[in-house]
Amino acid sequence: MRDTGVELTECDREPIHIPGSIQPHGALLALAGDAVAQASANAHDWLGAAPEALLGRSLAEVFGPEGAARIRQALELDDPRAANPVRLEAGGRALDGLVHRHDGVDVIEVEAAAEQTPDEARASLAAFRHGLVEVQKARSVRSLCDSIARSVRELTGYDRVLVYRFHADWHGEVVAEARDESLEPFLELHYPASDIPAQARALYRLNWLRNIPDREYRPVPLVPAAHPRTGRPLDMGLAALRSVAPVHVQYLRNMGVAGTLTISLLRDGELWGLIACHHNTPRALPYELRASCELLGQLFSARIGAAEAEEHRDADLRRAETLAALTDRLAGTRDWAGELARDPALLQLVGASGAAIVAEGRVETAGDAPTPRAIQVLAARLAGHPLPGGLVATDHARDELPGAEASGVLAVPLSDTRLQWIVWFRPEVVQSVNWAGDPRKPMEPVADGAMEVRLTPRGSFALWKETVRGHSVPWTAGDRRAALDLRRVVAEVVLRHAEEIAALNRALARSNAELDAFTYIASHDLREPLRGIRNYADMLREDYAGRLDAEGTGMLDTLTRLTMRMDGLIESLFEYSRVGRLEMEFAPTDLNAVIDDVLHSLAHQLREAGVEIRVPRPLPTLPCDPVRVGQVFQNLVHNAVKYNDRPDRWVEIGWREGTPPVLYVRDNGIGIPARHHEVIFRIYKRLHARDRFGGGTGVGLTIVRRIVERHGGRVWLESAPESGTTFFFTLQPD
Ligand code: ADP
Repeated sequence: MRDTGVELTECDREPIHIPGSIQPHGALLALAGDAVAQASANAHDWLGAAPEALLGRSLAEVFGPEGAARIRQALELDDPRAANPVRLEAGGRALDGLVHRHDGVDVIEVEAAAEQTPDEARASLAAFRHGLVEVQKARSVRSLCDSIARSVRELTGYDRVLVYRFHADWHGEVVAEARDESLEPFLELHYPASDIPAQARALYRLNWLRNIPDREYRPVPLVPAAHPRTGRPLDMGLAALRSVAPVHVQYLRNMGVAGTLTISLLRDGELWGLIACHHNTPRALPYELRASCELLGQLFSARIGAAEAEEHRDADLRRAETLAALTDRLAGTRDWAGELARDPALLQLVGASGAAIVAEGRVETAGDAPTPRAIQVLAARLAGHPLPGGLVATDHARDELPGAEASGVLAVPLSDTRLQWIVWFRPEVVQSVNWAGDPRKPMEPVADGAMEVRLTPRGSFALWKETVRGHSVPWTAGDRRAALDLRRVVAEVVLRHAEEIAALNRALARSNAELDAFTYIASHDLREPLRGIRNYADMLREDYAGRLDAEGTGMLDTLTRLTMRMDGLIESLFEYSRVGRLEMEFAPTDLNAVIDDVLHSLAHQLREAGVEIRVPRPLPTLPCDPVRVGQVFQNLVHNAVKYNDRPDRWVEIGWREGTPPVLYVRDNGIGIPARHHEVIFRIYKRLHARDRFGGGTGVGLTIVRRIVERHGGRVWLESAPESGTTFFFTLQPD
């Protein structure tokens, strides 16, 4: 959570532990040794003697020998508070004595002893027992809070009892409430951290109970003001009667609360929250009941750590199950990134609203994610970002990762190169935190110079909605762990896939190379005897001229034609294998120059066919192998001219912009039926009788496709009989 940015120096300076006075529902004596060194000004009301008359008196003189003995017994304990309440009597009146030692000074506070009837005592005991059972029974954090709110209200009868939980930035939230039906609910309201300033929190940690029976009390000073031994005003950090800071009194007035009791809730010695009891009229609570509340608070405190740990364990378990299921699903697919993006578990795992996977040159997104372009930019930025704990986690990405287009970003790199990432997103919490007051206007110093009221808490407790701009719900330790776990799973799956693919590639490359080598050798070796056959046919024709009849000569001519045809087939097979074996030599290539060469080499055919060549606009410059791409154009233009029997033949060479750009060769020739659009790319596949359209081997398009694919591109066509043909191709991956 963010800092509300409120300056509270005045409130933080308020020396609330040394107010110099007490509340009047009891009296206070501070000792020096066995004698009274300070007494509250109201001592006469409680102890039957004026403060001045008590100073220097021994405990026995004030409380009688029995009372003094009990006090001394308490003071012998490490923490004298364990003996409270000490039964005392003074001025003929039964009193509850509360003994403590603080800052090296022994202090005795007295207040009216509880005057419970046996029935009332039984009822309190039953309520306390019931509370113990309820709190003991509760398993979850939520039920612990609910049960303690209910139990404390049942025990004390306050109009409203709420459980107030501190967040990491010390702002508070009401997480449970038991109240009189007629009161408006405070549940889920948030209070700014300034409502309970640091030094108040320090006192709540020290002292589990804080009781203010009547906010409109008159403070009672101590006589003398300073303790004679320390020379300083008494530190009342542990005193039950400690006077209330004027600012807090004002706060209670604003809330319309007359009497309060506050019980601290601690986890591992740190303040976790408070039980705040509010009453609309003044309310005094006997010590026994307060102590019962304190015990309930201590029981709660002992259990809250375990309950939270259990909740974390449950959450971790759920995460582990999700992850295990996800692992199985990823293991069964080659497209792990696509699969992961489609899997709802990806978002559930960390409670994100969107996610992206940047891997293998692709961006896959899930849920509510920024555009792929923005994600690329983010990934580039992440590559240079510090990686505490192996990941990047922020709930205010706008400041930390400008341009992230989300408020919360959690990102794990998938490789040490930091080029591949899984990134999760959380939106800005239109954090409708129901602040119970405006945190930006907490305390206004008043100018009336009145010493007691130095600060005025805000007057308004109307619901105030604070929208925390640019912040998301923060990522928890569990979220981070889950992100790192997923990274491990993906790394394993990807590694396994990469190994499989590498093995497959090796096998494919081997068989491709073997095939090409075989074709090369075969075509080489086949040509030799073929040449021999042809030579012998020629020799026959020459040496036996005149001895052969017309049929014999015809047979010889056929033999020669067949050898020539076979030679053509072998030649094209040889060329096909060469394209497979040769390394492509990529360079930025001006395709206009390539076309010029092609047209030049086809000039004879073009002139003969009387074809009009159209190039509507200059071709682009693209990275490719110029010689091989020349071969592609050569084959396509050659076919475009060849498979055309119209008198007005034309061929158009052009391109369309895009990523990647698309090149095309279009003709107004005989066209190709759709059912043949795929087969024409197969080796030796021709659609026509051998001698129609000037013959051919059926290898041209096979070579075209091989060259295009070796560039990472693809080739396809649009055509129908009698309506011409357009071959399209690209020279880069889509
Ligand atoms: P070849 O032209 O040597 O027969 P190709 O592989 O170049 O072999 O073409 C395969 C077949 O595709 C051709 O036989 C022809 O039937 C058909 N074809 C290719 N280009 C065109 C075109 N522009 N118009 C019509 N048919 C074509």
